[in-house]
Amino acid sequence: METQLEIEQVDVQAPSDQMRDQTTTSKSTEAQPKQTRKKAVLRPKAVQTYDTIVVGAGISGIAAAYKMKQVGYQDYLVLEKAERVGGTWRDNNYPGCGCDVPSALYSFSFAPSHQWSHLFAKQPEILSYLERVVEQFELQDKICFQHELLSAKLNEEANIWQLETSQGTYQARTVIFSTGPITEPSLPKIKGIEGFKGEMFHSARWKHDYDLTGKRVAVIGTGASAIQFIPQIQPLAKELIVFQRTAPWVLPKADMQLNASVKSLVAKFPMIQQGWRNSVSSILNGINFGLRHPSLLEPVNFLSRQLLKLQIQDDALRKAVTPNFSIGCKRLLFANNYYPALQQDNVTLLPQGLVEIDGQTVIAANGERFEVDVIIWGTGFEVAHPPIGQRVWNAQGERLADLWKDSSPEAYLGTSLENVPNAFLVLGPNILVYDSFIGIAEAQIQYIVDGLGFVAQTYL
Ligand SMILES: Cc1cc2nc3c(=O)[nH]c(=O)nc-3n(C[C@H](O)[C@H](O)[C@H](O)COP(=O)(O)OP(=O)(O)OC[C@H]3O[C@@H](n4cnc5c(N)ncnc54)[C@H](O)[C@@H]3O)c2cc1C
Repeated sequence: METQLEIEQVDVQAPSDQMRDQTTTSKSTEAQPKQTRKKAVLRPKAVQTYDTIVVGAGISGIAAAYKMKQVGYQDYLVLEKAERVGGTWRDNNYPGCGCDVPSALYSFSFAPSHQWSHLFAKQPEILSYLERVVEQFELQDKICFQHELLSAKLNEEANIWQLETSQGTYQARTVIFSTGPITEPSLPKIKGIEGFKGEMFHSARWKHDYDLTGKRVAVIGTGASAIQFIPQIQPLAKELIVFQRTAPWVLPKADMQLNASVKSLVAKFPMIQQGWRNSVSSILNGINFGLRHPSLLEPVNFLSRQLLKLQIQDDALRKAVTPNFSIGCKRLLFANNYYPALQQDNVTLLPQGLVEIDGQTVIAANGERFEVDVIIWGTGFEVAHPPIGQRVWNAQGERLADLWKDSSPEAYLGTSLENVPNAFLVLGPNILVYDSFIGIAEAQIQYIVDGLGFVAQTYL
């Protein structure tokens, strides 16, 4: 512990009571309630100092906490701004939200589960899995909820990180920023957006208390989240206008339910899941390899075109949703129910971006206008510039967001930043490949924990 001074409000006796205590007998004061008032005094403030502070308790923060505990580190803490763990899987709870990577791979290597109800888990199951892992490895005592990091500045002289949080000041010799790569909803700058008269929300902040039944709905975007929630809301909406700026490549999702006997088989023979995990990993690595050798992605291309042919009867619609770029240049999406939803009578697929909002009217790039009750933004996340950059200052006293303003951020192995010593990013810039984010985070955390050992040995 190190000491600083802080102002504290203390109760002091009102002057009139003090005088009375000194001048009157005990008999006369017995029945008189004492008056108190507040006074500001300077007191030593306990600044809590740790070897390592992890910021964020999503999959990366949980994995970091687990790994540090496993190698025997005690002096660390996880600061989480929300009230529970889970990150992405806590915040994204739109209808149909789920994982595009089979759970055998989208789970921690140290915590395989035989309880998945499907090959591809949905959001509620992933969230409870993450909570179970925290409980199973007794990590909850290490996590401080409702502790939002406001700023992280390196005191180079003292070689210590000073972290201002919503609950006070912390200090740490090393910091792991596991604040998420896909966290902050991104809203496009659309003319007239402030004047929209209806309801609107982003898919990552779904308004569950807003009933979509019988409503005229505009969905903006056809990315990973939109293609999951469109089939869910289509049966409710009176009218559904889907604004598609870029058609994504969509592959069939080879999902299936895992019944009780499959689960008990997996529990009895964990090798089954390990084998499935390895196979999925190899397939995804194959896709990554194919990105550099596009001819190898031909079978994937064929599968995607077959899905378009099989599921879309209308030629004009098929043409409108056929991507105009090579497969693999943008994230591949997986769905069996997206194209069928687009063909329903109440749905209009508009191969146009939204350019303006006028009162309750949304206006497409080709000038078409639709009056709607609600806009749902499926416009993704701020991924180009990690939001944590707004809150971290490097050794030169420069804010990372200011350094990144005119360029893409770079980090060694997506983890270590120039001039930001004794600090690490998990799932930092340029790590996006076709793989489980959990696997990537775990690999980075292994590197980070090795780094922590080095810092501990060399720390002056
Ligand atoms: C809808 C959706 C579907 C996805 N599907 C897949 C998929 O199929 N396969 C795949 O591999 N990946 C998928 N991803 C990517 C996913 O983001 C990652 O897999 C993973 O959730 C990242 O975990 P994380 O812990 O690094 O970040 P997050 O899950 O974002 O967690 C970050 C945590 O940090 C906290 N935090 C942030 N700022 C602060 C602060 N200033 N102070 C304190 N706490 C803070 C947040 O509250 C949060 O709890 C998906 C993402 C989304 C949004």
